[in-house]
Amino acid sequence: MEFYRKLQEFKSFNLQSYLDSIAPHHIEAILAKDNVTELDFPALLSDAALEYLEPMAQRAATITRKQFGNVIFLFTPLYISNYCENTCRYCSFACTHNIERRHLSPREIREEAQKIGDTGMRHILLLTGESSKKATLEYITDAVALCRDYFSSIGIEIYPLTEEGYGRCVAEGVDSLTIYQEVYDETIYHELHRGGPKDNYRFRLEAPDRACRQNVHSLTIGALLGLHDFRKEAFALALHLRHIQNTWPATEVSVSLPRIRPLVQDFALPDPVSDKRFVQLLTAFRIAFPSVGITISTRESKEFRNNILPLGVTRMSAGVSTAVGGHSQAPSTTQFEIADSRSLEEMKRDLLRAGFQPVTYDWNSRLLINS
Ligand code: SF4
Repeated sequence: MEFYRKLQEFKSFNLQSYLDSIAPHHIEAILAKDNVTELDFPALLSDAALEYLEPMAQRAATITRKQFGNVIFLFTPLYISNYCENTCRYCSFACTHNIERRHLSPREIREEAQKIGDTGMRHILLLTGESSKKATLEYITDAVALCRDYFSSIGIEIYPLTEEGYGRCVAEGVDSLTIYQEVYDETIYHELHRGGPKDNYRFRLEAPDRACRQNVHSLTIGALLGLHDFRKEAFALALHLRHIQNTWPATEVSVSLPRIRPLVQDFALPDPVSDKRFVQLLTAFRIAFPSVGITISTRESKEFRNNILPLGVTRMSAGVSTAVGGHSQAPSTTQFEIADSRSLEEMKRDLLRAGFQPVTYDWNSRLLINS
């Protein structure tokens, strides 16, 4: 079944009443189970579950070590263009903002890639603003081809593509796709994304399925935390994860949990998520989805990232700049505020000190292309 229709089935489900009905014995029963069900997951986000944060953290830590060992996968984003046709109210790249627009030439992309590659990083995530007129599919696949000289794993975080578009990216060497629905609540989605191509909720929602149909090796999905009630958003995200796992069992799937830190002056966060609630969310995802990768963004501070490392985290970015050309050129407008600006070397050192193994090379897309 298409995921849009699956989500519609839950439209009449009163999540708030369900959360209010959860009592301590429900949480104890869930924590004693081996397999967490579709409705156990939101129960772990209830107020009742807040009293069980310590056992949830212990359970999440045990599951993570069992599934992933002490390994943390590191990657670096490379912003190649910040032209955008959308009006996302929370983003400084929106076309409504008068910022310096940059669009890297092939030579400049090579310079950025070389600079990042020189640090020893082999996993790159190419990002653009959402302008298919400026950052055309050809521009993106050419950038992927350039990056193959420097990186073993190439991911993209760009505007949603057609199935054919994803097929071309995969053929060129893209092995992973990151795409955020931003907000799963359809009404709020339209309020925040009026006017541009992003207004097409369903085209975005079903982009992961189109990429999986074209055999993308790995997929990361997520919602921007802070734009709507995090429990409703997390429930929809969990449904989405289950849909992907059931429909595309060969795809490696991860979830990203970014708490939004907008740089837009007149945008007040509608539903901020506290640190305590964030830990509840992280551990709930790990308990409900033992084999799913979890990415923690540089929007979180160094101290907070270090503290939550054992609780389910498997992927982190390092050496991050959210400006186009931010690794080799003069600073320009950044997409969002970074709270953890550690270089790759600093990140590796801190991970090793904490007993984790940083991994900068665990996948080679060329082997897939040549097979
Ligand atoms: S979030 Fe993405 S689509 Fe929206 S304005 Fe920013 S770059 Fe454009």
